[in-house]
Amino acid sequence: MIKRLITGGSGLVGSNIDAEIKLGSNDGDLRDWAQVKNIFEAHRPTHVIHAAARVGGVGGNMKAKVEFFYDNVMINTNVLEACRIYNVKKVVSFLSTCIFPESIEYPLTEKKIHLGAPHWSNYGYAYAKRMLDVQTEVYRDQYNLDFVSVIPTNIYGLNDNFNLDSGHVIPSLIHKCYLAKVNNTDFNVWGSGTPLREFIYSKDIGKLTNWALENYDESEPIIFSTSHEISIKDLVGFIVGIIGFEGDVVWQSDKPDGQFRKPSSNKKLMSYVPDFKFTPIEVGLKETIDHFVNNYPNLRGV
Ligand code: GDP
Repeated sequence: MIKRLITGGSGLVGSNIDAEIKLGSNDGDLRDWAQVKNIFEAHRPTHVIHAAARVGGVGGNMKAKVEFFYDNVMINTNVLEACRIYNVKKVVSFLSTCIFPESIEYPLTEKKIHLGAPHWSNYGYAYAKRMLDVQTEVYRDQYNLDFVSVIPTNIYGLNDNFNLDSGHVIPSLIHKCYLAKVNNTDFNVWGSGTPLREFIYSKDIGKLTNWALENYDESEPIIFSTSHEISIKDLVGFIVGIIGFEGDVVWQSDKPDGQFRKPSSNKKLMSYVPDFKFTPIEVGLKETIDHFVNNYPNLRGV
C-alpha cells in the first residue's frame, strides 16, 4: 500500500500534490526530533515529499541568516533521518535555484550547485539547502536508499503568500495592482523592470513532483524549469492586462532589482519528459488572479 506524506503540505507546492498526509506547521515542529519521530511513528509513510523549509524573501534572509541556517539544517536532518529509520521507500526533497553560486557561468545546471559561494544575502539559507543535496547523496550511498532532490525555479500559483512586502514578485504585484485598480491609485513596482526571471506554475510543479516520485532515481538533483525567461516589465504587462488596470505604472528605482538574471537549463528534465507541456504564463496568471479576486481578502499574507 502506498502512503504519501508531504511536509510543507499547506503551501504553494503542497496544495498541488496528491498525498494521503499533508503536514502543515500546526502538525508539529520539524526542527524537533521527538516531534518528527512521533509523526513518522503515527503515519508510517511509504513515500515522502519534503517541501517544508524556512523560506523568505531577500529582506527576511538578510536579517536572520542564523535562523535560516539553523531551522533548515534541523528540519532536513530530522526528516531524512526519520525517512531512513521508518523505511520510507522514496523521498523527493525540494532545493531551490537561489542556492547556486553567486558567480557562475549561465545557464545554471545540476552540476553547478557547489561550485562557489552563494550570495551573501541568503548565505545561511543557501548553505543549509545545499546540505540537503549532500545528505541525499550520503544516505543513498551508505544505506542504498531511493532519496532524490529537485530544484524548482520561481514558483507561483493559487496558494501563494500575497503579502505586499514579504511576498515574491508575482503574488505581491497581483495584490498591488488589484489595490491600485480598486482604489484608483498608481501601481508601484520595485526596480527598473529589466531583470529576467523564469516562472513555473505550481500545478506544473505538482505534476513534475508526482512524476519524480515515481520515476526519478538519480543521485544528482533535477532542475524543474521552463528555461524561458521573462522580464519583470513583461510580467507587469500581463498582470495589468488581466486585472484590467488602466492607471499609471510607476517604477520605483529606489527599490531593489535584485540579481539581473539566473537562467537555468531544463535539458535534463526534457530528456526525461520530452512531451511535458508547461502552463503558459498568461494562463497560470489568469487562474491565479481569478482566484485572488474571487477570494479577496481571504488569502495567505493579505
Ligand atoms: P528573486 O528571484 O529571489 O529575486 O525573487 P522575487 O520574486 O522577489 O523577484 C524579485 C524581482 O521582482 C526583482 O527584480 C524585483 O525588483 C522585482 N519586483 C518588482 N516589484 C516587486 C514586488 O512588489 N515584490 C517583489 N518581491 N519583487 C518585485
